[in-house]
Amino acid sequence: METADNAPGYPPRKKSREDAHRFIERVAKHNGWVVNPDRQFVDDLAEGLAVNYNRHGYFLCPCRDGDGVRRLDRDIICPCDYLAPDQKEFGHCFCGLFLTPEFAAEGQAPSQIPERRPEEPGA
Ligand code: SF4
Repeated sequence: METADNAPGYPPRKKSREDAHRFIERVAKHNGWVVNPDRQFVDDLAEGLAVNYNRHGYFLCPCRDGDGVRRLDRDIICPCDYLAPDQKEFGHCFCGLFLTPEFAAEGQAPSQIPERRPEEPGA
């Protein structure tokens, strides 16, 4: 049954927006990335991450529609599989949340970039 994918055997603890902010800061620090300096923008993404976590049990990318099944969404669980190539090509991830230090130093705002995820992942 698909929902078994999402059930680790106990209900996951609910995440607040502040929890999502801490997650964002921790991931950025660990990887040497820079969090988008637009605080309102990041706050909106943190809210989206928290909502997705509480709905699905994992930090589904807040800029994408997932299936709600971990197995099918695993490539778009934050930080997603497409972050590295997107940072390499554009200097930031698809959402514009995590910037490379070089991109951040230029002081530009992230722009909309093409979706790198295949329409049918794994196809
Ligand atoms: S694009 Fe990837 S790294 Fe950026 S917020 Fe979405 S899941 Fe996270």
